[in-house]
Amino acid sequence: AFDVLVIGGGPAGSAAAIYAARKGIRTGVAAERFGGQVLDTMAIENFISVSHTEGPKLAAALEHHVKEYEVDVMNLQRAEKLIPAAAPGGLIEIQLANGASLKSKTVILSTGARWRQMGVPGEDEYRNKGVAYCPHCDGPLFKGKRVAVIGGGNSGVEAAIDLAGIVAEVTLIEFDSQLRADEVLQRKLRSLPNVRIITSGLTTEVHGDGTKVTGLSYKNRNTGEVHRVDLEGIFVQIGLVPNTEWLKGSVALSPRGEIEVDVRGQTSVPGVFAAGDATTVPYKQIIIAMGEGSKAALSAFDYLIRMVPA
Ligand code: FAD
Repeated sequence: AFDVLVIGGGPAGSAAAIYAARKGIRTGVAAERFGGQVLDTMAIENFISVSHTEGPKLAAALEHHVKEYEVDVMNLQRAEKLIPAAAPGGLIEIQLANGASLKSKTVILSTGARWRQMGVPGEDEYRNKGVAYCPHCDGPLFKGKRVAVIGGGNSGVEAAIDLAGIVAEVTLIEFDSQLRADEVLQRKLRSLPNVRIITSGLTTEVHGDGTKVTGLSYKNRNTGEVHRVDLEGIFVQIGLVPNTEWLKGSVALSPRGEIEVDVRGQTSVPGVFAAGDATTVPYKQIIIAMGEGSKAALSAFDYLIRMVPA
């Protein structure tokens, strides 16, 4: 059995594995796709002390760093079920999709999240070529340009306010007949001179010139008319979905499906910790996920040294 078993091999899981292994305890990582969301990222300019890197390069560096330690890395393994220890101090079981099961004294959940996509023609083709999902990450790349934000919930309106301070012009498109963001955010948004708000708008297509985004089309849901907007960037803000479906019923999740953690990364299940985008910790970023992963590993170690064997 492991002392610490990490589920997920993104920035949070990698940091957790390194911190755990450095305590000289038996550490394993099971990940569906080692590297996580970082693998899908192009330019990264906010990983502090590294002014510019690229996703695949950072993912390779994460793997290299983890493999410098005695960590049992099990890549391409999907966890499907967590079974808490039968008695305090007992082993926690993780069942994998391949039928195998892993046992550990402590578990760190770091299965991340995925951005909900529009599912329209051009979205996939122009991802990272104008189609973006993270305003904190990619906003500055569109300085002085025209962008759209898709989604009028809190995250869409926050993104539009944030981007309005950087880009030339923001067009916010909401599917519903009204914005769903908090009133105070809506008021702020409406006070900005370079923001245009379109409600009852369904984005139907992303246009590009083969290398980058040049515009989008949306349908007015009341009239059926299709309009085209010329622009350079599209920020899709229609939801970030935590990869926690498999934990329903075993670990306490928030209404949005995020794993509930305390300041130490402890979940509702003794010996089970969590970190990164899958949790309730706000602001989903690489550097934050790494900090939280490190913290969860230290909490797991703290738990282990106090553990009375079952
Ligand atoms: P993830 O990176 O999502 O990793 C989750 C891991 O868990 C993966 O290994 C996955 O395969 C695995 N997993 C999931 N489910 C299971 C399961 N059931 N069983 C086993 N394994 C599982 N952040 C920045 O700070 N700067 C940026 O410039 C930036 N740009 C971004 C650009 C894009 C296009 C995207 C999508 C995100 C970007 N982010 C950026 C956000 C950043 O990538 C995330 O905040 C960060 O990767 C979260 O790390 P994590 O370890 O919590 O989760």
